[in-house]
Amino acid sequence: MKLLKNFVNGNWVSSLGPLPLRSQLNQASASAKNAFDLWRQVPVSERVRYLIKFCQLLNENRDELASICSQEHGKSKIESQGEIGRGIESVEHALGMPSMMMGSSLSQVAHGIDSMSIRQPVGVFAAITPFNFPCMIPLWFLPYAISSGNTFILKPSEQTPKTAEFIFSLLEKCSLPKGVVNLVHGSKEVVDAILEDENIVGVSFVGSSKVAKYIYEKGSQYSKRVQALGGAKNFMVVKSDANLELSLKSLCDSAFGCSGQRCLAGANIIAVGSCYEKLRAGLVTMAKSICCGPVISAAHKDRVLSYIAQGIAEGATLLLDGREENDEYENKSNHIGPTIFDDVLPCMSIAKEEIFGPVLCLMRAKNLNEAIEMINESPYANAATLYTSSGKNAALFTQLAQPSMLGINVGVPAPMAFFPFGGCKNSLFGSLKAGGEDAVRFYTDTKVVTSRWF
Ligand code: NAD
Repeated sequence: MKLLKNFVNGNWVSSLGPLPLRSQLNQASASAKNAFDLWRQVPVSERVRYLIKFCQLLNENRDELASICSQEHGKSKIESQGEIGRGIESVEHALGMPSMMMGSSLSQVAHGIDSMSIRQPVGVFAAITPFNFPCMIPLWFLPYAISSGNTFILKPSEQTPKTAEFIFSLLEKCSLPKGVVNLVHGSKEVVDAILEDENIVGVSFVGSSKVAKYIYEKGSQYSKRVQALGGAKNFMVVKSDANLELSLKSLCDSAFGCSGQRCLAGANIIAVGSCYEKLRAGLVTMAKSICCGPVISAAHKDRVLSYIAQGIAEGATLLLDGREENDEYENKSNHIGPTIFDDVLPCMSIAKEEIFGPVLCLMRAKNLNEAIEMINESPYANAATLYTSSGKNAALFTQLAQPSMLGINVGVPAPMAFFPFGGCKNSLFGSLKAGGEDAVRFYTDTKVVTSRWF
């Protein structure tokens, strides 16, 4: 057994040291606060040079990083390599911080008076991240926070801590000044310590909606900036004018990829018009050929299995039963196969709640407007996709569907690093999302200087 280590003030320390978890967090925040005073004065062009080295190390160690990520998460190595690629893109994007941080100016705003705005770092930021993308999600935050001049603490998921530890071993090789980046392991106790810590000015969070709301409320109570990305229940609408053959693979990848443990997983399909019978048959055939990896834990498997039982009890028709795969492993592993329910009604819990497993619900709508209404009734609004060959349908969908990440014939509509990533309603607490321009806004304060020279 290997003990996890925290990285505090440039040193690795055992997470089971003599200090209680809260004190370890407080030490990390004190070291980050101390480092901030000097780090904020390092020119931004020099700050990003550390990230160039970090990018190079991430690229050189992709394979090992992917192995660690797959080993602790259970996702395939290709999936891990994919998320590492997306994480590296965030680091690359943050290399543009010198221009992203630029302010603006206007001369003669009044007689003899000029105004200029400048963006400045704010202080110590913390990120609290989920299990499902152990590499990519920490990298949604760390590069932007530090290149804009803040110092940073990561509290990764306690279910996937080793990927974060490896990422920090690479950061250690970048020779950043001590205290600029810190890693503290733990769960709720450390999260509460972060929220209550006076040195920490802001928190970036990704996880379930219940915890996201808690983080947002408690963080705000302690006067922090908070961006809290929550859970999802994503819809995929299939119109009869869609290319069904090509759409089927995209639909199944979205629903069953990563065993449904993605915040962008399409969990509900709404068939509109005459495509329904063909779609249903095609989905079952394709899903039967898919082998899902395990879900994250035995407790999570039980949760997914209980949703399947609930779906049956609520009167949905089980077209494909993924529990058989669990039976094959004699309940000794966390595998559940692709599961498809038909005749699902919007009021059923399997249609409303986030299951975060390989369970797909099939529903019907009379027309596109009715499908959009069904999407908009959900308390979540993370992502939605429309499969169609009509530009007019795509325009209507883009205009009226509420989720903030929309796909047109794209089952996993993940924005690239240069766009903001995140939803609205119960999928986001706060107003600024991860990445893109929102990251710069979240991690900087805009100062406006109004000047007159006598
Ligand atoms: P989770 O909410 O259980 O945990 C997320 C983080 O919060 C972890 O670091 C954990 O230690 C901490 N935490 C857990 N319970 C807590 C509590 N009671 N008090 C304080 N902190 C607590 O989420 P998870 O299971 O790790 O991840 C899956 C969830 O994340 C899903 O709901 C998924 O939709 C969501 N997610 C959302 C996005 C997005 O972009 N919106 C991206 C990825 C995952």
